[in-house]
Amino acid sequence: MTDGKRFEIDEPTLVKIGALADDLRIEACVVGGYVRDLILGLESKDLDIVVMGDPIKFAGEISRKLDASGIVVFERFRTAQMTIGETKVEVVGARKEKYDPESRKPVVTAGTLEEDLSRRDFTINAMAVGLNRFADYHETSFGQLVDPFDGMTALSERIIDTPLDPSETFSEDPLRIMRAIRFSSRFDASLSPRVRDSITGMKDRLSIVSQERITDEFMKVLAVARPSLGLKLMQETGVMKIVFPEISEMPGVEQRQDHHHKDVFLHTMNVVDNLAGVSDNVWLRFTGLVHDIAKPETKKFIDGVGWTFHGHDEIGARKMKRIFQRMKLPMENLQYVEKLVRLHLRPMALAVDGVTDSAVRRLLFESGEDFDDLMKLCRADITSKNRNLVAEYTSNYDLVYARAREIEEKDRIKSWKPPVNGDEIMGLFKIKPGKDVGVLKKAVETAVLDGVIPNDHESAVAFLKAHFAEILFEK
Ligand code: ATP
Ligand code: MG
Repeated sequence: MTDGKRFEIDEPTLVKIGALADDLRIEACVVGGYVRDLILGLESKDLDIVVMGDPIKFAGEISRKLDASGIVVFERFRTAQMTIGETKVEVVGARKEKYDPESRKPVVTAGTLEEDLSRRDFTINAMAVGLNRFADYHETSFGQLVDPFDGMTALSERIIDTPLDPSETFSEDPLRIMRAIRFSSRFDASLSPRVRDSITGMKDRLSIVSQERITDEFMKVLAVARPSLGLKLMQETGVMKIVFPEISEMPGVEQRQDHHHKDVFLHTMNVVDNLAGVSDNVWLRFTGLVHDIAKPETKKFIDGVGWTFHGHDEIGARKMKRIFQRMKLPMENLQYVEKLVRLHLRPMALAVDGVTDSAVRRLLFESGEDFDDLMKLCRADITSKNRNLVAEYTSNYDLVYARAREIEEKDRIKSWKPPVNGDEIMGLFKIKPGKDVGVLKKAVETAVLDGVIPNDHESAVAFLKAHFAEILFEK
Protein backbone atom coordinates (compact mmCIF):
# COMPACT_ATOMS: atom_id res chain seq x y z
CA MET A 1 0.00 0.00 0.00
CA THR A 2 2.97 2.33 -0.02
CA ASP A 3 3.36 4.16 -3.27
CA GLY A 4 7.10 4.75 -3.26
CA LYS A 5 6.97 8.47 -2.47
CA ARG A 6 9.47 9.68 0.07
CA PHE A 7 9.64 12.89 1.99
CA GLU A 8 12.55 14.68 3.59
CA ILE A 9 11.50 15.20 7.17
CA ASP A 10 13.70 17.45 9.25
CA GLU A 11 11.28 18.33 12.03
CA PRO A 12 13.56 17.56 15.04
CA THR A 13 10.82 16.16 17.27
CA LEU A 14 9.79 13.68 14.57
CA VAL A 15 13.38 12.61 13.99
CA LYS A 16 13.80 11.95 17.71
CA ILE A 17 10.48 10.11 18.00
CA GLY A 18 11.55 7.94 15.06
CA ALA A 19 14.90 7.10 16.69
CA LEU A 20 13.11 6.22 19.92
CA ALA A 21 10.69 3.98 18.04
CA ASP A 22 13.66 2.14 16.50
CA ASP A 23 15.27 1.68 19.92
CA LEU A 24 12.07 0.17 21.26
CA ARG A 25 11.39 -1.85 18.12
CA ILE A 26 8.03 -0.13 17.66
CA GLU A 27 6.58 0.76 14.26
CA ALA A 28 5.56 4.40 14.18
CA CYS A 29 4.44 7.03 11.71
CA VAL A 30 3.10 10.55 11.60
CA VAL A 31 -0.45 10.87 10.22
CA GLY A 32 -3.27 13.22 9.35
CA GLY A 33 -2.96 17.00 9.34
CA TYR A 34 0.84 17.05 9.52
CA VAL A 35 1.21 14.89 6.40
CA ARG A 36 -1.42 16.86 4.51
CA ASP A 37 0.22 20.17 5.40
CA LEU A 38 3.68 18.80 4.56
CA ILE A 39 2.50 17.96 1.05
CA LEU A 40 0.89 21.37 0.70
CA GLY A 41 4.05 23.05 1.96
CA LEU A 42 2.18 24.55 4.92
CA GLU A 43 3.32 24.80 8.48
CA SER A 44 1.64 22.50 10.94
CA LYS A 45 1.81 22.76 14.70
CA ASP A 46 0.35 19.49 15.94
CA LEU A 47 1.87 16.08 15.51
CA ASP A 48 -0.29 12.96 15.44
CA ILE A 49 1.73 9.76 15.82
CA VAL A 50 0.30 6.31 15.17
CA VAL A 51 2.09 3.26 16.57
CA MET A 52 1.63 -0.40 15.83
CA GLY A 53 2.14 -1.49 19.44
CA ASP A 54 1.48 -0.14 22.89
CA PRO A 55 0.85 3.62 22.51
CA ILE A 56 0.70 4.31 26.22
CA LYS A 57 4.08 2.78 26.89
CA PHE A 58 5.59 4.55 23.88
CA ALA A 59 4.06 7.90 24.92
CA GLY A 60 5.59 7.44 28.36
CA GLU A 61 9.03 6.90 26.77
CA ILE A 62 8.66 9.94 24.52
CA SER A 63 7.60 12.03 27.47
CA ARG A 64 10.64 10.97 29.53
CA LYS A 65 13.28 11.18 26.81
CA LEU A 66 12.08 14.28 24.97
CA ASP A 67 11.32 16.41 27.97
CA ALA A 68 7.58 16.65 27.32
CA SER A 69 5.14 18.34 29.66
CA GLY A 70 1.53 17.78 30.64
CA ILE A 71 1.11 14.19 29.52
CA VAL A 72 -2.51 13.03 29.62
CA VAL A 73 -3.40 9.39 29.03
CA PHE A 74 -6.76 8.05 27.81
CA GLU A 75 -6.33 4.33 28.40
CA ARG A 76 -9.71 3.37 26.97
CA PHE A 77 -9.09 5.15 23.65
CA ARG A 78 -5.46 4.03 23.51
CA THR A 79 -4.23 7.60 23.17
CA ALA A 80 -1.93 9.98 25.06
CA GLN A 81 -1.29 13.67 24.59
CA MET A 82 1.62 15.85 25.62
CA THR A 83 3.43 19.04 24.72
CA ILE A 84 7.02 19.19 23.53
CA GLY A 85 8.24 22.76 23.32
CA GLU A 86 5.47 24.53 21.40
CA THR A 87 4.27 21.36 19.72
CA LYS A 88 1.24 19.33 20.78
CA VAL A 89 1.94 15.65 20.28
CA GLU A 90 -0.72 12.97 20.29
CA VAL A 91 0.23 9.29 20.28
CA VAL A 92 -2.43 6.77 19.33
CA GLY A 93 -2.40 3.05 18.79
CA ALA A 94 -3.45 1.98 15.29
CA ARG A 95 -7.05 1.05 15.81
CA LYS A 96 -10.34 -0.14 14.52
CA GLU A 97 -13.31 1.70 15.80
CA LYS A 98 -16.99 0.91 15.78
CA TYR A 99 -19.55 3.38 16.96
CA ASP A 100 -22.50 2.13 18.93
CA PRO A 101 -25.37 3.91 17.13
CA GLU A 102 -27.37 4.23 20.37
CA SER A 103 -24.82 5.41 22.91
CA ARG A 104 -22.53 7.16 20.39
CA LYS A 105 -19.56 5.71 22.27
CA PRO A 106 -16.82 4.29 20.07
CA VAL A 107 -15.66 0.76 20.78
CA VAL A 108 -11.91 0.74 20.16
CA THR A 109 -9.72 -2.27 19.41
CA ALA A 110 -6.19 -2.62 18.02
CA GLY A 111 -6.00 -2.65 14.21
CA THR A 112 -3.61 -2.33 11.30
CA LEU A 113 -2.28 0.94 9.89
CA GLU A 114 -4.65 0.68 6.96
CA GLU A 115 -7.63 0.05 9.23
CA ASP A 116 -6.58 3.07 11.26
CA LEU A 117 -6.35 5.28 8.18
CA SER A 118 -9.69 4.06 6.85
CA ARG A 119 -11.57 5.38 9.89
CA ARG A 120 -10.21 8.85 9.45
CA ASP A 121 -12.49 11.55 8.17
CA PHE A 122 -11.20 12.41 4.68
CA THR A 123 -8.75 10.95 2.21
CA ILE A 124 -6.60 14.10 2.46
CA ASN A 125 -6.34 13.37 6.20
CA ALA A 126 -5.82 9.62 5.80
CA MET A 127 -2.16 9.58 4.82
CA ALA A 128 0.82 8.56 6.94
CA VAL A 129 4.58 8.98 6.70
CA GLY A 130 6.86 6.38 8.33
CA LEU A 131 9.38 7.26 11.03
CA ASN A 132 11.44 4.06 11.36
CA ARG A 133 14.95 3.48 10.08
CA PHE A 134 15.02 -0.04 11.42
CA ALA A 135 15.29 -2.23 8.34
CA ASP A 136 12.48 -4.69 9.16
CA TYR A 137 9.79 -2.09 8.99
CA HIS A 138 9.29 -1.47 5.29
CA GLU A 139 5.92 0.14 5.42
CA THR A 140 6.84 2.67 8.07
CA SER A 141 10.39 3.35 6.91
CA PHE A 142 11.53 6.91 7.43
CA GLY A 143 9.94 9.44 5.07
CA GLN A 144 7.88 6.78 3.29
CA LEU A 145 4.35 7.85 2.30
CA VAL A 146 1.49 5.47 3.08
CA ASP A 147 -1.55 6.54 1.11
CA PRO A 148 -4.12 3.75 0.67
CA PHE A 149 -6.97 6.05 -0.38
CA ASP A 150 -5.07 8.23 -2.83
CA GLY A 151 -5.18 11.34 -0.70
CA MET A 152 -2.38 12.78 -2.85
CA THR A 153 -4.61 13.01 -5.90
CA ALA A 154 -7.50 14.38 -3.84
CA LEU A 155 -5.16 17.01 -2.48
CA SER A 156 -3.80 18.05 -5.85
CA GLU A 157 -7.29 18.11 -7.37
CA ARG A 158 -8.68 19.80 -4.29
CA ILE A 159 -11.41 17.30 -3.52
CA ILE A 160 -12.84 16.38 -0.16
CA ASP A 161 -13.79 12.71 -0.20
CA THR A 162 -14.09 10.02 2.47
CA PRO A 163 -11.98 6.84 2.69
CA LEU A 164 -15.12 4.73 3.21
CA ASP A 165 -18.64 5.16 1.94
CA PRO A 166 -19.55 8.68 3.15
CA SER A 167 -22.79 7.55 4.76
CA GLU A 168 -20.72 5.25 6.97
CA THR A 169 -18.15 7.95 7.76
CA PHE A 170 -20.81 10.54 8.58
CA SER A 171 -23.10 8.31 10.56
CA GLU A 172 -20.23 7.21 12.81
CA ASP A 173 -19.49 10.80 13.69
CA PRO A 174 -21.79 13.43 12.16
CA LEU A 175 -19.40 16.21 13.22
CA ARG A 176 -17.45 15.16 10.13
CA ILE A 177 -20.17 16.98 8.16
CA MET A 178 -18.91 20.24 9.64
CA ARG A 179 -15.30 19.17 9.19
CA ALA A 180 -15.92 18.47 5.49
CA ILE A 181 -17.20 22.02 5.09
CA ARG A 182 -14.31 23.44 7.09
CA PHE A 183 -11.61 21.66 5.05
CA SER A 184 -13.39 22.51 1.83
CA SER A 185 -13.35 26.21 2.65
CA ARG A 186 -9.85 26.18 4.10
CA PHE A 187 -8.30 24.57 1.02
CA ASP A 188 -10.77 25.94 -1.51
CA ALA A 189 -11.60 22.32 -2.34
CA SER A 190 -14.89 20.97 -3.65
CA LEU A 191 -16.90 18.24 -1.99
CA SER A 192 -17.00 15.04 -4.01
CA PRO A 193 -20.55 14.49 -5.35
CA ARG A 194 -21.08 11.52 -3.02
CA VAL A 195 -19.92 13.52 0.00
CA ARG A 196 -22.16 16.41 -0.94
CA ASP A 197 -25.18 14.15 -1.42
CA SER A 198 -24.47 12.43 1.83
CA ILE A 199 -24.25 15.69 3.74
CA THR A 200 -27.49 16.93 2.24
CA GLY A 201 -29.22 13.68 3.15
CA MET A 202 -27.72 13.21 6.62
CA LYS A 203 -27.43 16.75 7.96
CA ASP A 204 -30.14 16.17 10.57
CA ARG A 205 -27.79 13.74 12.31
CA LEU A 206 -25.83 16.79 13.48
CA SER A 207 -28.44 17.06 16.22
CA ILE A 208 -26.73 14.26 18.15
CA VAL A 209 -23.41 16.12 18.19
CA SER A 210 -22.60 18.36 21.14
CA GLN A 211 -23.06 22.08 20.58
CA GLU A 212 -19.47 22.76 21.69
CA ARG A 213 -18.02 20.60 18.91
CA ILE A 214 -20.31 22.12 16.27
CA THR A 215 -19.54 25.66 17.39
CA ASP A 216 -15.82 24.92 17.42
CA GLU A 217 -15.96 23.87 13.77
CA PHE A 218 -18.24 26.79 12.87
CA MET A 219 -15.75 29.27 14.28
CA LYS A 220 -12.92 27.53 12.44
CA VAL A 221 -14.83 28.13 9.20
CA LEU A 222 -14.92 31.83 10.06
CA ALA A 223 -11.16 31.71 10.58
CA VAL A 224 -10.30 30.67 6.99
CA ALA A 225 -9.16 33.16 4.35
CA ARG A 226 -12.56 33.21 2.58
CA PRO A 227 -15.22 32.19 5.09
CA SER A 228 -18.02 32.66 2.54
CA LEU A 229 -16.94 29.43 0.83
CA GLY A 230 -17.90 27.40 3.89
CA LEU A 231 -20.91 29.52 4.85
CA LYS A 232 -22.40 29.16 1.37
CA LEU A 233 -21.81 25.41 1.46
CA MET A 234 -23.66 25.25 4.77
CA GLN A 235 -26.52 27.18 3.23
CA GLU A 236 -26.66 25.09 0.05
CA THR A 237 -26.60 21.76 1.88
CA GLY A 238 -29.16 22.80 4.50
CA VAL A 239 -26.58 22.58 7.31
CA MET A 240 -26.99 26.29 8.10
CA LYS A 241 -30.63 25.78 9.03
CA ILE A 242 -29.47 23.42 11.75
CA VAL A 243 -26.38 25.20 13.02
CA PHE A 244 -27.44 28.85 12.59
CA PRO A 245 -31.12 29.14 11.57
CA GLU A 246 -31.23 32.96 11.66
CA ILE A 247 -28.55 33.15 8.96
CA SER A 248 -30.40 30.58 6.86
CA GLU A 249 -33.38 33.00 6.73
CA MET A 250 -31.36 35.70 5.01
CA PRO A 251 -31.38 34.77 1.31
CA GLY A 252 -33.99 36.18 -1.01
CA VAL A 253 -34.77 39.29 -2.95
CA GLU A 254 -38.15 40.93 -3.18
CA GLN A 255 -39.32 43.31 -5.81
CA ARG A 256 -42.09 45.83 -5.23
CA GLN A 257 -42.90 48.48 -7.86
CA ASP A 258 -39.49 49.59 -9.12
CA HIS A 259 -37.67 48.72 -5.95
CA HIS A 260 -35.81 45.61 -5.01
CA HIS A 261 -33.54 45.15 -2.04
CA LYS A 262 -30.19 43.43 -1.87
CA ASP A 263 -30.07 39.74 -1.04
CA VAL A 264 -29.12 40.00 2.62
CA PHE A 265 -27.32 36.66 2.62
CA LEU A 266 -25.10 37.43 -0.36
CA HIS A 267 -24.39 40.90 0.98
CA THR A 268 -23.44 39.36 4.34
CA MET A 269 -21.10 36.90 2.62
CA ASN A 270 -19.29 39.81 0.97
CA VAL A 271 -19.03 41.65 4.27
CA VAL A 272 -17.52 38.63 6.05
CA ASP A 273 -14.98 38.09 3.26
CA ASN A 274 -14.11 41.80 3.23
CA LEU A 275 -13.44 41.63 6.97
CA ALA A 276 -11.39 38.47 6.58
CA GLY A 277 -9.22 40.44 4.16
CA VAL A 278 -8.40 43.11 6.73
CA SER A 279 -8.45 41.34 10.09
CA ASP A 280 -7.68 37.96 11.66
CA ASN A 281 -10.09 38.65 14.50
CA VAL A 282 -12.78 35.95 14.18
CA TRP A 283 -15.11 37.94 16.43
CA LEU A 284 -15.04 40.83 14.00
CA ARG A 285 -15.87 38.33 11.23
CA PHE A 286 -18.66 36.91 13.41
CA THR A 287 -19.98 40.45 13.85
CA GLY A 288 -19.97 40.87 10.07
CA LEU A 289 -21.98 37.67 9.80
CA VAL A 290 -24.67 38.84 12.23
CA HIS A 291 -24.76 42.60 11.75
CA ASP A 292 -27.87 42.41 9.53
CA ILE A 293 -29.43 39.44 11.29
CA ALA A 294 -32.63 41.35 12.06
CA LYS A 295 -33.14 42.56 8.50
CA PRO A 296 -35.48 39.74 7.46
CA GLU A 297 -37.88 40.47 10.31
CA THR A 298 -37.75 44.28 10.11
CA LYS A 299 -38.16 44.41 6.34
CA LYS A 300 -40.96 46.70 5.25
CA PHE A 301 -41.94 48.34 2.00
CA ILE A 302 -43.02 51.97 2.31
CA ASP A 303 -44.68 53.69 -0.61
CA GLY A 304 -42.58 56.47 -1.98
CA VAL A 305 -39.59 55.43 0.12
CA GLY A 306 -38.83 51.84 -0.82
CA TRP A 307 -37.56 49.01 1.34
CA THR A 308 -36.71 49.81 4.94
CA PHE A 309 -35.21 47.78 7.77
CA HIS A 310 -35.97 50.13 10.59
CA GLY A 311 -34.39 49.21 13.92
CA HIS A 312 -32.49 46.20 12.62
CA ASP A 313 -29.34 47.43 14.36
CA GLU A 314 -30.86 47.53 17.84
CA ILE A 315 -33.07 44.45 17.40
CA GLY A 316 -30.09 42.55 16.02
CA ALA A 317 -27.92 43.55 18.98
CA ARG A 318 -30.60 42.33 21.40
CA LYS A 319 -30.68 38.92 19.77
CA MET A 320 -27.03 38.26 20.45
CA LYS A 321 -27.30 37.10 24.05
CA ARG A 322 -29.65 34.24 23.25
CA ILE A 323 -27.60 33.25 20.22
CA PHE A 324 -24.43 33.19 22.33
CA GLN A 325 -26.18 31.08 24.94
CA ARG A 326 -27.65 28.67 22.43
CA MET A 327 -24.39 28.26 20.50
CA LYS A 328 -22.36 28.13 23.72
CA LEU A 329 -20.11 30.90 22.45
CA PRO A 330 -17.68 32.42 24.95
CA MET A 331 -19.64 35.10 26.80
CA GLU A 332 -16.63 37.39 27.10
CA ASN A 333 -17.13 38.29 23.43
CA LEU A 334 -20.84 39.09 23.74
CA GLN A 335 -20.50 42.78 24.58
CA TYR A 336 -18.12 43.40 21.71
CA VAL A 337 -20.47 41.80 19.17
CA GLU A 338 -23.57 43.51 20.63
CA LYS A 339 -21.87 46.87 20.60
CA LEU A 340 -20.70 46.72 17.00
CA VAL A 341 -24.06 45.42 15.74
CA ARG A 342 -25.83 48.21 17.65
CA LEU A 343 -23.51 50.92 16.33
CA HIS A 344 -22.98 49.77 12.76
CA LEU A 345 -25.20 52.46 11.21
CA ARG A 346 -23.93 55.30 13.35
CA PRO A 347 -20.83 56.40 11.42
CA MET A 348 -22.86 56.75 8.24
CA ALA A 349 -25.68 58.59 10.00
CA LEU A 350 -23.09 60.86 11.50
CA ALA A 351 -21.53 61.64 8.15
CA VAL A 352 -24.92 62.37 6.60
CA ASP A 353 -26.11 64.54 9.49
CA GLY A 354 -22.87 66.51 9.60
CA VAL A 355 -19.75 65.51 11.46
CA THR A 356 -19.99 67.57 14.64
CA ASP A 357 -17.30 67.18 17.28
CA SER A 358 -19.74 66.22 20.00
CA ALA A 359 -21.33 63.52 17.83
CA VAL A 360 -17.89 62.08 17.08
CA ARG A 361 -16.98 62.22 20.77
CA ARG A 362 -20.16 60.32 21.64
CA LEU A 363 -19.41 57.66 19.07
CA LEU A 364 -15.86 57.32 20.43
CA PHE A 365 -17.30 57.10 23.93
CA GLU A 366 -19.81 54.38 23.03
CA SER A 367 -17.48 52.30 20.89
CA GLY A 368 -14.45 52.85 23.12
CA GLU A 369 -11.45 50.68 22.28
CA ASP A 370 -13.48 49.00 19.52
CA PHE A 371 -13.88 52.15 17.43
CA ASP A 372 -11.34 50.98 14.85
CA ASP A 373 -13.12 47.63 14.47
CA LEU A 374 -16.43 49.46 14.07
CA MET A 375 -14.94 51.47 11.22
CA LYS A 376 -13.60 48.27 9.63
CA LEU A 377 -17.09 46.79 9.82
CA CYS A 378 -18.59 49.90 8.22
CA ARG A 379 -16.11 49.89 5.38
CA ALA A 380 -16.59 46.15 4.84
CA ASP A 381 -20.34 46.84 4.72
CA ILE A 382 -19.91 48.80 1.47
CA THR A 383 -20.70 46.14 -1.11
CA SER A 384 -22.44 48.23 -3.74
CA LYS A 385 -21.50 47.72 -7.37
CA ASN A 386 -22.23 51.35 -8.07
CA ARG A 387 -18.83 53.04 -8.15
CA ASN A 388 -20.20 56.49 -7.37
CA LEU A 389 -21.94 55.19 -4.28
CA VAL A 390 -18.82 53.36 -3.12
CA ALA A 391 -16.77 56.53 -3.54
CA GLU A 392 -19.35 58.57 -1.65
CA TYR A 393 -19.59 56.11 1.28
CA THR A 394 -15.84 55.71 1.45
CA SER A 395 -15.25 59.42 1.62
CA ASN A 396 -17.92 59.76 4.31
CA TYR A 397 -16.10 57.21 6.44
CA ASP A 398 -12.73 58.83 5.72
CA LEU A 399 -14.16 62.07 7.03
CA VAL A 400 -15.54 60.49 10.21
CA TYR A 401 -12.30 58.62 10.77
CA ALA A 402 -10.09 61.66 10.28
CA ARG A 403 -12.23 63.76 12.60
CA ALA A 404 -12.25 60.97 15.18
CA ARG A 405 -8.45 60.76 15.12
CA GLU A 406 -8.07 64.47 15.76
CA ILE A 407 -10.56 64.45 18.57
CA GLU A 408 -9.17 61.32 20.15
CA GLU A 409 -5.68 62.78 20.14
CA LYS A 410 -6.94 65.82 21.97
CA ASP A 411 -9.58 64.40 24.28
CA ARG A 412 -8.68 60.70 24.78
CA ILE A 413 -12.26 59.47 24.87
CA LYS A 414 -11.75 55.84 23.78
CA SER A 415 -10.45 54.57 27.09
CA TRP A 416 -12.77 56.77 29.07
CA LYS A 417 -12.08 57.25 32.74
CA PRO A 418 -14.07 59.89 34.60
CA PRO A 419 -11.75 62.90 35.06
CA VAL A 420 -12.97 63.26 38.63
CA ASN A 421 -14.01 60.29 40.75
CA GLY A 422 -16.82 59.80 43.23
CA ASP A 423 -14.67 59.97 46.39
CA GLU A 424 -13.26 63.29 45.37
CA ILE A 425 -16.70 64.67 44.56
CA MET A 426 -17.95 63.65 48.02
CA GLY A 427 -14.94 65.29 49.66
CA LEU A 428 -15.22 68.48 47.62
CA PHE A 429 -18.87 69.11 48.37
CA LYS A 430 -19.18 67.30 51.70
CA ILE A 431 -21.90 65.01 50.44
CA LYS A 432 -22.66 61.41 51.34
CA PRO A 433 -22.64 58.49 48.91
CA GLY A 434 -25.87 58.46 46.93
CA LYS A 435 -27.63 59.51 43.77
CA ASP A 436 -26.21 63.03 43.75
CA VAL A 437 -22.68 61.73 43.21
CA GLY A 438 -23.83 59.88 40.10
CA VAL A 439 -25.66 62.95 38.80
CA LEU A 440 -22.55 65.10 39.20
CA LYS A 441 -20.35 62.52 37.47
CA LYS A 442 -22.81 62.26 34.59
CA ALA A 443 -22.82 66.06 34.26
CA VAL A 444 -19.03 66.04 33.88
CA GLU A 445 -19.27 63.28 31.29
CA THR A 446 -21.86 65.21 29.29
CA ALA A 447 -19.82 68.42 29.50
CA VAL A 448 -16.74 66.65 28.14
CA LEU A 449 -18.63 64.88 25.35
CA ASP A 450 -20.38 68.10 24.35
CA GLY A 451 -17.03 69.85 24.24
CA VAL A 452 -17.98 72.30 26.99
CA ILE A 453 -14.83 71.42 28.94
CA PRO A 454 -11.67 69.50 28.03
CA ASN A 455 -11.24 65.98 29.35
CA ASP A 456 -8.98 66.70 32.32
CA HIS A 457 -9.18 66.73 36.09
CA GLU A 458 -8.66 70.42 36.68
CA SER A 459 -11.37 71.47 34.24
CA ALA A 460 -13.77 68.91 35.67
CA VAL A 461 -13.32 70.18 39.22
CA ALA A 462 -13.66 73.80 38.12
CA PHE A 463 -16.78 72.90 36.18
CA LEU A 464 -18.38 71.17 39.17
CA LYS A 465 -17.56 74.03 41.52
CA ALA A 466 -19.12 76.53 39.15
CA HIS A 467 -22.25 74.53 38.42
CA PHE A 468 -22.77 72.37 41.52
CA ALA A 469 -26.07 73.89 42.65
CA GLU A 470 -27.48 74.23 39.18
CA ILE A 471 -26.71 70.58 38.32
CA LEU A 472 -28.37 69.18 41.42
CA PHE A 473 -31.20 71.66 41.30
CA GLU A 474 -32.11 70.86 37.71
CA LYS A 475 -31.72 67.13 37.94
P1 ATP B 1 -5.90 21.03 11.78
O1 ATP B 1 -4.83 21.62 10.95
O2 ATP B 1 -7.13 21.86 11.81
O3 ATP B 1 -5.45 20.59 13.14
P2 ATP B 1 -6.11 18.23 11.33
O4 ATP B 1 -6.37 17.42 10.08
O5 ATP B 1 -4.79 18.03 11.99
O6 ATP B 1 -6.35 19.73 10.96
P3 ATP B 1 -7.27 17.44 13.81
O7 ATP B 1 -8.61 17.75 14.35
O8 ATP B 1 -6.06 17.97 14.51
O9 ATP B 1 -7.29 17.91 12.29
O10 ATP B 1 -7.17 15.87 13.70
C1 ATP B 1 -5.98 15.19 13.34
C2 ATP B 1 -6.32 14.01 12.44
O11 ATP B 1 -7.17 13.10 13.13
C3 ATP B 1 -7.06 14.36 11.17
O12 ATP B 1 -6.17 14.72 10.15
C4 ATP B 1 -7.82 13.11 10.87
O13 ATP B 1 -6.99 12.13 10.27
C5 ATP B 1 -8.18 12.60 12.25
N1 ATP B 1 -9.48 13.09 12.75
C6 ATP B 1 -9.71 14.16 13.55
N2 ATP B 1 -11.00 14.29 13.85
C7 ATP B 1 -11.63 13.27 13.25
C8 ATP B 1 -12.98 12.84 13.18
N3 ATP B 1 -13.96 13.49 13.80
N4 ATP B 1 -13.23 11.73 12.47
C9 ATP B 1 -12.26 11.06 11.84
N5 ATP B 1 -10.99 11.42 11.85
C10 ATP B 1 -10.65 12.51 12.54
MG1 MG C 1 -4.23 18.93 13.89
